Amino acid sequence: MTTSEPTIFERIIAREIPADIVHETDTVIAFRDIAPKAPVHLLVVPKTAQYRNVAELAAGDPGLLAEVVAVAQELAREHADGEFRLVFNTGPNAGQTVFHVHAHVLAGGLAEGTLA
Ligand code: 5GP
Repeated sequence: MTTSEPTIFERIIAREIPADIVHETDTVIAFRDIAPKAPVHLLVVPKTAQYRNVAELAAGDPGLLAEVVAVAQELAREHADGEFRLVFNTGPNAGQTVFHVHAHVLAGGLAEGTLA
């Protein structure tokens, strides 16, 4: 429970708005990013709205963070060749726009890409 407005990800988890969901467990959901930045661009999202960013998640529930990474690897194997870039934008000055922790899984042909 949070007292603030639900984020777009909470609304996806609650099925209030549609998403192309590719994986779901009791604790984690993954769906395609609506504005993909790579041939494969998935978001892996812990269902709890308790953590706004990866630093809070690492401090509060490292096991859940490990689960997010394991799901990212599994999805990169399923949707690409198993290789992937994992991005956690942390804070508005780092490009974070949704303040519910999530991992961007980017895959499917990034060999020439930079970190930007
Ligand atoms: P951030 O900028 O917070 O790291 O990442 C938020 C991501 O959520 C962005 O890449 C954006 O494209 C994605 N996003 C925003 N709204 C929606 C939505 O309604 N559905 C889906 N599938 N992705 C969204």
